[in-house]
Amino acid sequence: MNETFVRLLCPECGKSWERKPKELPTHTEGFACDSCEAERRTAEFARTDRDLDVLKQFQ
Ligand SMILES: [Zn+2]
Repeated sequence: MNETFVRLLCPECGKSWERKPKELPTHTEGFACDSCEAERRTAEFARTDRDLDVLKQFQ
């Protein structure tokens, strides 16, 4: 069975990576970039609308 990942993209430094939805805060909470440590709402790191949907669905 495939694991579901949320694809993330940092709006500050452009880093892209993936995390399991369970490892992320809810989409309205703050989340810090792994690379530049910019802090934004987790929703702003979702790469596409689909990634945001996955994030919401699995929390
Ligand atoms: Zn960053």
